[in-house]
This record gives sequence, structure tokens and C-alpha cells, in this order.
Amino acid sequence: MVQPVIVMKFGGSSLATPERIRHVAQRIARRRKDGYDVIAVVSAQGDTTDELLERLRAVAPNPPAREVDMLLATGEQQSAALIAASLSALGIDAISLTGWQAGIATDGNHRRARIHTVTPHSVRRALSAGRVAVVAGFQGISGEFEVTTLGRGGSDLTAVALAASLGAGCEIYSDVAGVYTADPRIVPDARVLQEISYDEMMELAAMGAQVLQGRAVEYAWHHGVPIRALSTFDDSPGTLVREGSTMERVQAVTGVALDRHVSRVLCESVPDRAGTAAAIFGGLAEAGVNVDVIVQSPSREDRTDIAFTVSDEDAQAAFEITKSLLQRLGAEGATLDPNVAKVSVVGAGMLSRPGVASRAFRAIADAGVNIIAISTSEIKISCLVRRDGAEASARALHAAFDLALESNPS
Ligand code: ADP
Ligand code: ASP
Ligand code: MG
Repeated sequence: MVQPVIVMKFGGSSLATPERIRHVAQRIARRRKDGYDVIAVVSAQGDTTDELLERLRAVAPNPPAREVDMLLATGEQQSAALIAASLSALGIDAISLTGWQAGIATDGNHRRARIHTVTPHSVRRALSAGRVAVVAGFQGISGEFEVTTLGRGGSDLTAVALAASLGAGCEIYSDVAGVYTADPRIVPDARVLQEISYDEMMELAAMGAQVLQGRAVEYAWHHGVPIRALSTFDDSPGTLVREGSTMERVQAVTGVALDRHVSRVLCESVPDRAGTAAAIFGGLAEAGVNVDVIVQSPSREDRTDIAFTVSDEDAQAAFEITKSLLQRLGAEGATLDPNVAKVSVVGAGMLSRPGVASRAFRAIADAGVNIIAISTSEIKISCLVRRDGAEASARALHAAFDLALESNPS
């Protein structure tokens, strides 16, 4: 008899303690009893990834990316073995697999490798032998047999890629009950969404809602894999991420996102001539730095200021690169401001509604917070603010668009 196949992915906080490991094993066991073949994808326990990074920085301030990946990949491998052993203790046949063993092949770009093929022979073999396959998330293997990792939150991507390859369902379990209208830890009256479209979820994730990794959502969209985001700790239905309905949206805004981990680089008194921006952002792109909100000030006496934001993780590298580029361009210099944050409203419904931006700016102003810079796309409006005003801004936006209400009128 052919059984349905399901990928169940468990995040770090769901695996943080021996009790939680046993709890997750029991959830997997329950799914088996319900008649599913299960592939479990696991993250490193608790804050293991951050702790490993700290241990590395304590011995090498600027560790080679290859060694970062070698070290970080061990976190997920520990979880996989622990879950497989815990399942065995429940009398369930299970086998742990590294990303390599599970057939996750990537390019050689350490720390942010892209998956190019998935050939999950050993996963299939495990399933046909009646076993649970427990796969270490977040990791793959390059063409040169180098261990790679898939970017922070990358276990979500492992889960989606395996589900796509095996034609399986995809469930992502975390410590919250699904995708909310805002981070429930910051906005207490945030509400679980029953459904959200891929494009909105991608935008929310890119703007800082870490509940699902943006790249995982992009992969799911591309391969037509619906994702269900669920809680490890209760049986509520969670949120379904899938192709959006083409019907008119009821509301302009679907959710609010907050990213506290951004820094702002200010390039001062840059010569205002053709090719300057291309030189700065070309140099940053070559170094693999993702740049976000970019603002160029009006020029004065053939000079201009250019400011942009990067993630905190990339900030120091971006700053060093920018300084050396600016020296060559004959600019005054650069400053780095780590004390900023980005708050965003996201919603496919804003496409057809004027006035969303002004409402958002009014809400932030009424919270007494100054907006440093603004960036928009068709379905999002982001504002850069001081970090100490970020949470108040998120709460103000959530209230201004009535997101706590089931059918908000906005
Ligand atoms: P995991 O460790 O399981 O991968 P993450 O920590 O990556 O889980 O993601 C879950 C966290 O995401 C939640 O604890 C919550 O604080 C945060 N979060 C941010 N925005 C949202 C949102 N819109 N909906 C739900 N959770 C969110
Ligand atoms: N452990 C990795 C991280 O912390 C991957 C993941 O949790 O998905 O980013
Ligand atoms: Mg995560």
C-alpha cells in the first residue's frame, strides 16, 4: 500500500531540551500511526548555532566561511541523531542522515549556498524500509564535496526542497501557532492568519518575520509546494502558505514585520557623476552583500550623500568594502550606524488602494517616532527608524490597520 508522505520540520526551540526532543519524537510517532511516511527535518537545538558562531569568533575574529560551515553543520547533525535515537526508544525504526546523505547538492557558496539538485535516494530507501528518515536541516554538499549551509533559518529550505523532490506535504513546526499578523512577542494582540499567499509571505520574511525563511518560501512558490506553519506544542491548524486567490483583497495590509538586525551605512560627500552608485553597489554585490533601503540625497556642489542598509551580519564587511571603494572615488568617507531598525507593512491588497502609505507614516508619527528613510514595493512599505522606536512603530502600524480584528475594515 502506498502511504502519503509528509515532511515535518522542527526548529531549534522545539528541540531545546531532552523533554522537547522526546515530545517531538512523540509527535512524529503520532503521524506514523495516522498512516504517513515521515521525513523529519531538524534544526540545531535552541541557540546552538549562535553559540557555535560565538565559539568560533572567540578563536578567530574573521573565520573562513568554509570553517564556519564545517562547524555550524554539526549542530543539525546532533539534533538528527538525538531525534532518531529518541524515536528508536519509542520502538520506531528511524535513521538520521546528513544533508549530504539526503542528497542535498548545492553550489560552493559557503554560508548562503543555493540548492541545485535534490537526489534523496537514501531518504526513499529509509521510507521503503518502513523507517522514519531524520534529516539534518540547513546543510548540503557542493560539487567539490565541501559542506555548505543554506543561510540562517535554512532548515526550512531543506524541508521544502525535500517535499518538492518527493511530492510530499510540508509542515514547519515552531514555537508559535503559525504565521501571525505580526510577531506575537512584540505585538500582543497579533492574530494567527489562516492562509497567506507566497508573495506576501516572502515579503514578510524578507522584512524580518523569521517564522519562515524567505528563501524557503521562494522555493516553495517556484515548485508549487504549499507549506503549513504549525506549533510544536498544540494542535491548532496553523497557517497555510499557498498561491494567493485572485479575488479582490478584503484588506490592504496582511501583516507587519520588524527587523531589528539592520545597520545603515552613510557615504558622505560622494562625487555626483555617472557611475558612482554603480561602483559602490557593484563592489558590494561582488562581495555577496545584500543591500536594502537606498537613499541618495539631492546633490550640492557636485557632491551627494548616499545611504543604504545591510543586515547586521554583513555590516562590518559592507562598511570596510564601502570605505575602500569611496577612497578610490574620492569621497569624504563613510559612517556606520548600527542603531536602526526596519518596520514594514505588507499586503497584496495595497495594490488597489491609495492612502496606505500616508496611513502608515501617520501611525509611526503618532507613536512619536521619526522616519529616517522609506522604501516601497508594490506590496510593501518599509520605514527605517531608530532601534529604540521600532517596537512602538510595529504596534502602532498593527493598530492603525486594525490587524487584530478578524475581518478588519481597512
Ligand atoms: P524555529 O526555531 O522553529 O525555526 P524561528 O525562531 O525561526 O523558529 O521562528 C519563530 C519565531 O518567529 C517566533 O518565536 C516569533 O517570535 C517570530 N516571528 C516573527 N514574526 C512572526 C510572525 N509574523 N508570525 C509568527 N512568528 C513570528
Ligand atoms: N540552525 C540554523 C539557524 O539557526 C538553521 C535553522 O534553524 O533553520 O539559522
Ligand atoms: Mg527558523
